[in-house]
Amino acid sequence: MYEYDLLVVGSANADLVIGVERRPGAGETVLGTDLALHPGGKGANQAVAAARLGARTALLARVGDDAHGTLLLDSQRAAGVDTAGVLVGGAPTGVALITVDPSGDNSIVVSPGANGRLTPDDVRAAAPLLGSARVVSAQLEIPLETVEEVVRTLPAGSRFVLNPSPPRPLPPAVLAACDPLIVNEHEARVLLGADAGDTPGRWAEALLALGPRSVVVTLGGEGALVADSAGAVLVPAVRVDAVDTTGAGDSFTAALAWRLGAGERLADAAAYAARVGAVAVTREGAQASFPTAEEVAAL
Ligand code: ATP
Repeated sequence: MYEYDLLVVGSANADLVIGVERRPGAGETVLGTDLALHPGGKGANQAVAAARLGARTALLARVGDDAHGTLLLDSQRAAGVDTAGVLVGGAPTGVALITVDPSGDNSIVVSPGANGRLTPDDVRAAAPLLGSARVVSAQLEIPLETVEEVVRTLPAGSRFVLNPSPPRPLPPAVLAACDPLIVNEHEARVLLGADAGDTPGRWAEALLALGPRSVVVTLGGEGALVADSAGAVLVPAVRVDAVDTTGAGDSFTAALAWRLGAGERLADAAAYAARVGAVAVTREGAQASFPTAEEVAAL
């Protein structure tokens, strides 16, 4: 009997958001709106998304011994995430400095901070936690060698889900462990390089050839293509009026990982995840937009 449905290994950031009329040039100062401070980072987002759906969720991450770290721990606990695996100290909490212009375009500077100090040693020390989760998910806002150690430390029988964001080439052992590898178009193109091809079907086929047991290509308002050795299926998106797609991918991935752990087939889990992503895009923000299971059922 597993203690957790999902263990997320990944990043936790404080998102500092200021609206600006235009961005400053070199040496220039501009005035912006009041600061908005939100908990974020792909790992923290996935953990909150899963817990809000009712999954028994734990987070393995590192934050600083500072006010942003407290904000992140509090938001995880408020969503019901077990934070015993969140390490504190070693560097300031990761920060994303975000300016948003009137057209809604973001410019973002990320200071990885403590995320960059989540080490392979931290993973080895957390081996009992890794063994207590049915599914383990990761992203790439922590060091790649830390993700490699997760794959090495995972006990046989547990399932590994990876969203390689921000994308970079992956070692064969990491690719082979993914079931599924979840990518959007940009991530697919980076992993596949110049020969990527131009259709989601081609990306899925070429990604499968790299070694993962299954692949999901998310396509925003077009849905998601799921593929494994049995073939590929397009899971359509649910039609909604999208107001803010921030965090759609994180909520989709968390929901998919949870439903796979519950024993659903990949296409069924992706259909549920598409409903979760659809609710999330009808609301502003990332973590603030993630639905409960009741809200998904009501869609
Ligand atoms: P992000 O990086 O913005 O969090 P992403 O690029 O990783 O997202 P998307 O493909 O944008 O991921 O979204 C993930 C899933 O969420 C989609 O496969 C789809 O099911 C759902 N989704 C996203 N945008 C929409 C939309 N406009 N309408 C309905 N569903 C959507």
